[in-house]
Amino acid sequence: MQGAYEETAPPFWPGTGVFPPTPQWQESNCALTRLLAIHRRDLGRAVATAMEIRRGIDELTPLMAALCSRTCRFCPEPCCIGNTVWIDFRDLLLLHLLDEPIPPRQATSGPGEACPFLTHHGCRLPPRIRPWMCIQYICPAQRAVLNRKGRPSMAALRGKIKRIERKRLRMEAEVIRRIKPRRRTSPSSSACSG
Ligand code: SF4
Ligand code: SF4
Repeated sequence: MQGAYEETAPPFWPGTGVFPPTPQWQESNCALTRLLAIHRRDLGRAVATAMEIRRGIDELTPLMAALCSRTCRFCPEPCCIGNTVWIDFRDLLLLHLLDEPIPPRQATSGPGEACPFLTHHGCRLPPRIRPWMCIQYICPAQRAVLNRKGRPSMAALRGKIKRIERKRLRMEAEVIRRIKPRRRTSPSSSACSG
């Protein structure tokens, strides 16, 4: 059974070892790995779109980091505390399609609590595997910075974010289109539960 698990388990991000994958999260990701593996031959377009998204996020990341360097250090109400974020299905699809590490657990926290991935030095997750809702978030202080720089910089950033958002929708639609007719052929989840 352990061998079967290893065959179907996605690569979980090892992090600092403080977050072993929770069983439910582990099983859900194993199921997604298996499902995508069954349909892999038909997912070429979805993988190509995922690669475009990856390039877009890689371009966006330094721009957002530059914004954060101007606003976050003295922020009185950090957005990683109190806001509820989560790793959504499109986030997981992107990572699975590109065979990239999966965060070890969901990012949700209780009301008013800090995100479990928050440390004194910022987010513990590498930028590539953070939830999209974190990657693309522009807070009011950052909007003010962008507005001071003038409309083109805000518009350019928003344009990049919108293009990635559209590609995320396209990637998801393509995956659903490819797996839907054969959904009933999915194997049982027993291989991953051991
Ligand atoms: S992104 Fe904005 S709200 Fe979040 S920590 Fe930075 S300054 Fe604060
Ligand atoms: S995942 Fe990272 S960036 Fe997103 S809320 Fe948690 S600590 Fe902040």
